[in-house]
Amino acid sequence: MDKQVDVSIVVPLYNEEDNVRELYRELITVMADRSYEILFVNDGSSDRTTELIREISAADPHVVVVNFRRNFGQTAAMSAGFDYSCGDVIVTMDGDLQNDPADIPKLLDKINEGNDVVAGWRFKRQDPFWSRRLPSMIANRLISWITGVKLHDYGCTLKAFRKYVVENIKLYGEMHRFIPAIASAVGISIAEVRVNHRPRRHGTSKYGISRTFRVILDLITVKFLLSYSNRPIHIFGLIGLISLCLGALISFVLVVQRQLYAMPLADRPMLLLAILLIFIGIQFVTFGLISELQIRTYHESQNKPIYYVKEVIRRP
Ligand code: UDP
Ligand code: MG
Repeated sequence: MDKQVDVSIVVPLYNEEDNVRELYRELITVMADRSYEILFVNDGSSDRTTELIREISAADPHVVVVNFRRNFGQTAAMSAGFDYSCGDVIVTMDGDLQNDPADIPKLLDKINEGNDVVAGWRFKRQDPFWSRRLPSMIANRLISWITGVKLHDYGCTLKAFRKYVVENIKLYGEMHRFIPAIASAVGISIAEVRVNHRPRRHGTSKYGISRTFRVILDLITVKFLLSYSNRPIHIFGLIGLISLCLGALISFVLVVQRQLYAMPLADRPMLLLAILLIFIGIQFVTFGLISELQIRTYHESQNKPIYYVKEVIRRP
């Protein structure tokens, strides 16, 4: 990473042969008087995308191409873009022309106002209602409620980040939509701007309705990481204790009934339930303890701090 630029634009590309040229043209027009670079991360395209971005980069030193060996997914592509970028601000956007490069200056202005993350909000989203807008509406409400990071549109790839935000987070699976939520663990300020959204004119979307379920599972992971990654026993132990107490209570009632009132015990489902609850309770508590060991290995083997410092003020 030799050169220094102000803005790195990261674009994941997977079979976008009919879009890259137009996207490149729009980008250079918008960015004309700024110091910038464009990182085209080619996520194992099997069409002419590879060839086209190679041509573009040969003619323009602003363009960096990262070619993946195979298709690793959009999150991996964005992550690679972060790794190879050298700008102070990183802007991510889709490579299918659905995001409008003309919105980038708006995002940059918001960053300059002192925000660490600026998320685009596709105010008038141009996607089908049932398969896209409705699931995404529900997902957005859910994510905002559960993670406590209040945004209208998590799925919009058009976002801008200060460099240290992307330096401090690691992405797995399909977590790119959760970057603001994951980054909120570092302690950052997040803003939102309304952005233009255009229908996909060339190529096809790479996702279907099945994405909804993966988003829900990812949400559980993110919530767990945000709230309990430093104290897993508090969640597993709590569930365990509740289950244990319930089991013990039922057992107690059963014993009293059996001993004082001579009620039969052998044919009662309640007994099974009590045993089950006690077992589950013990399992959860032990699971919490094992997780506590795990997080120590996780943090201490990599010297990962459990805090992030903004500044230290010491009197000279
Ligand atoms: N993409 C990618 N790898 C993949 C799937 C998608 O790099 O495995 C890129 C794709 O080329 C596009 C962006 O991610 O630039 C968003 O994909 P898409 O437009 O299919 O998603 P949608 O807009 O339908 O949510
Ligand atoms: Mg798209």
